[in-house]
Amino acid sequence: MPYDTGECENSQETGEVTGVTISQTFMFSTHLSAILYQVCYHAKRREETMARIEVDEFFCKGCGLCTTVCPKHILELNPEVITDKGYHPAHSIDQSACTGCATCAVMCPDVAITVWR
Ligand code: SF4
Ligand code: SF4
Repeated sequence: MPYDTGECENSQETGEVTGVTISQTFMFSTHLSAILYQVCYHAKRREETMARIEVDEFFCKGCGLCTTVCPKHILELNPEVITDKGYHPAHSIDQSACTGCATCAVMCPDVAITVWR
C-alpha cells in the first residue's frame, strides 16, 4: 500500500527538514574540515618558512653590536644567562618578528649568529 503522507500533516515537512538538515550538516562539516585543513597547512608552512636566528653562545662575547643594528629591535643581551666565558649572550626576544635580514649576522665580529629563512 502506497505511503500516504496526507495522513500526517507534518510528515512531508518533517522529511524535507530532516533531509536538508543532514545535507547542510554534511556540507558544513566538509567546509569546516577544508577550512581547518587550510588553517593548519598555512600555519605549518609559516612555521617552516619563518625567519629566525640562533646565537652560538660559545662564540658570543656579549659586545652588543648586533642589538644596535637590528631594524626590528628584537635583540638583547640576556641578563639571565652567563656563558662559560662570563658574558651575557645576545638573544632574540621575539623570533616571530625576525625578517631574516641578517644584518645582525653581518655585524657580529665573532660570526656567532646564524640566520634561518
Ligand atoms: S635577521 Fe634581521 S630582523 Fe632578524 S634578528 Fe637579525 S637583524 Fe633582527
Ligand atoms: S655581535 Fe656577536 S658577539 Fe656581539 S653580542 Fe651580538 S652575537 Fe654576541
